[in-house]
Amino acid sequence: MACAPVGYASGLRSMLNSSVLVLNHSYLPIHVTSVRRAFSLIYQEAARAVDEAYRTFDFEQWRELAALDGEWVGTPRGPIRVPRVIALLHFDRVPMRHVRYSRVNVFARDKFTCQYCGARPHRSELNLDHVIPRSMGGKTSWENVVCSCVECNRRKGGRTPEQARLRLSRRPTRPRFSPLANLVAASACHEQWGPFLRGAEAGQRTVVAAG
Ligand SMILES: [Zn+2]
Repeated sequence: MACAPVGYASGLRSMLNSSVLVLNHSYLPIHVTSVRRAFSLIYQEAARAVDEAYRTFDFEQWRELAALDGEWVGTPRGPIRVPRVIALLHFDRVPMRHVRYSRVNVFARDKFTCQYCGARPHRSELNLDHVIPRSMGGKTSWENVVCSCVECNRRKGGRTPEQARLRLSRRPTRPRFSPLANLVAASACHEQWGPFLRGAEAGQRTVVAAG
């Protein structure tokens, strides 16, 4: 899988939003999540942090590790190292119907491409667009939300695509499989992901975890 160039996190917020590879119980990569969500999963004992030697750590054990240069966040109890890989403890494979609706998963389904004009701007220039606007009863769902560039979003305003004379490149649907490859391609890849992604390329098809 190809990766986007590494973007260095600046500040706590971008560090917490930066990406973490999620492995299932068999150490197969199934998802990319945020550092914030990864900490929450580890804290809730739904996942363990994985270090570069493939050892796993619960929250307290992880806290005891020395923080890495530039890869830590401050907490009231001192700095804690940022995990770049976590392994889920309680579920291996989640049925396809459980592909979780989320902002980043919609972006990944749509390959970070505006579904109206086909542009692929920087992620900060992408929005989620309600095809049928919320003001007209449009739902926030896989079937009614698409990735849109700021410009198309502005042009469309609170109208339907027909009213705004915009055309969807395809009808949005719930993805059947994990958008993992798209997520990885769009993420700043971390060195620690390498061994796990190479393993996954060996031919395993994965589904997304509820996470
Ligand atoms: Zn557009």
